[in-house]
Amino acid sequence: MNMRMIAAFIAVGATTLSTLAALYGDTPNDTHAWSVHDMNRPRPKVIQAEAGKPPSDAIVLFDGTNLDAWCMSKDQGPCKWNLVDGAMEVTKGEVRTKQSFGDCQLHIEWASPAAVKGEGQGRGNSGIFLMGQHEVQVLDCYNNETYADGQAGSIYGETPPLVNACRKPGDFQTYDIIFHQPVWEGDVMKHPGSITVLHNGVLIQDHWEFEGTATHKTRKPLTKKYEEKLPLRIQYHGNPVRYRNIWIREIPSRYANTTHGGPGAKKEAVMALRKETATTLEKNVKWDNPNKVETLRQMMEVVSYEKTDARMEPLKKLGAAYLEELAKLDAEALKAKKSDIMALRGDTQVLISNGVFSDTCKLRAGLQKIIDEQGFEKKR
Ligand code: MG
Repeated sequence: MNMRMIAAFIAVGATTLSTLAALYGDTPNDTHAWSVHDMNRPRPKVIQAEAGKPPSDAIVLFDGTNLDAWCMSKDQGPCKWNLVDGAMEVTKGEVRTKQSFGDCQLHIEWASPAAVKGEGQGRGNSGIFLMGQHEVQVLDCYNNETYADGQAGSIYGETPPLVNACRKPGDFQTYDIIFHQPVWEGDVMKHPGSITVLHNGVLIQDHWEFEGTATHKTRKPLTKKYEEKLPLRIQYHGNPVRYRNIWIREIPSRYANTTHGGPGAKKEAVMALRKETATTLEKNVKWDNPNKVETLRQMMEVVSYEKTDARMEPLKKLGAAYLEELAKLDAEALKAKKSDIMALRGDTQVLISNGVFSDTCKLRAGLQKIIDEQGFEKKR
């Protein structure tokens, strides 16, 4: 932590937290509504993530006690799969969730039958269909030969898993899946969607971008937008595969973030949020505040979000008035204001380096002159 940061953190108690922190990093620009390390930026929601439990914001789809979240895909009738030893066992017919989902994080545990029967695609076959479209293959691949793009953890028919991390038949194993659906803008596909899969904690699909939808034998390219949300489906393939501990978290599309970085950032949305932030912060500014430094720093924060002539003119005047005040002080009085002067100079530098203030800024020049004359900066 350098001296300016320390000064800023110490000074936090004397003024508002946001005033100082906002001018600590690079300021907002056309694609970022917040500065780097912006203390005004809303914090992520707090959730509980206790060991061995679903996260507190997860939707539990199966906890071993009932099949209420599921129905038969064919007729949406009650789920007829067996409930055995805290697991749901593939019985007859494909099942789907009653609720629909789009982009998600899915945790699911599965076990192929302990009694090994069949071979290749006929041994412990099932599958998890994200949005009913993309199959993450479930298959007993413990000493069982089959084609690579049909192994456990493959995106069926498209791409094999990076490694075969299968446990032996009868042992439960985990899939942790992060799924993003294809993104369309009208008839134009902006992104094909992607999937990341960890099998027993091992990365086996690394942000695979879909080529199509899951099919047997045939490549089927993505051609049209799905409904926004669709049920999760689990395949019936004639083998009594068991599932347990299934939970899902809905996650935002990367394109949902339009105000700060990423592929979805839109200048219009960024500027609207910057304007809103500036307007909100400006309400705290008291121009008759006898502490001119506080007002200056608050207004400098405001213009870092949205610079307007109506804000810059009084800001310049106040800066000039503060320099006049300092000009009347002797060395001892200036020393007492050292932290204010250094912090204010620091803010002007951030704004200059980000093009908000011009590099001929009179306030910065005036403050720098005092800093040099009074030897406030240690020479190295
Ligand atoms: Mg399958």
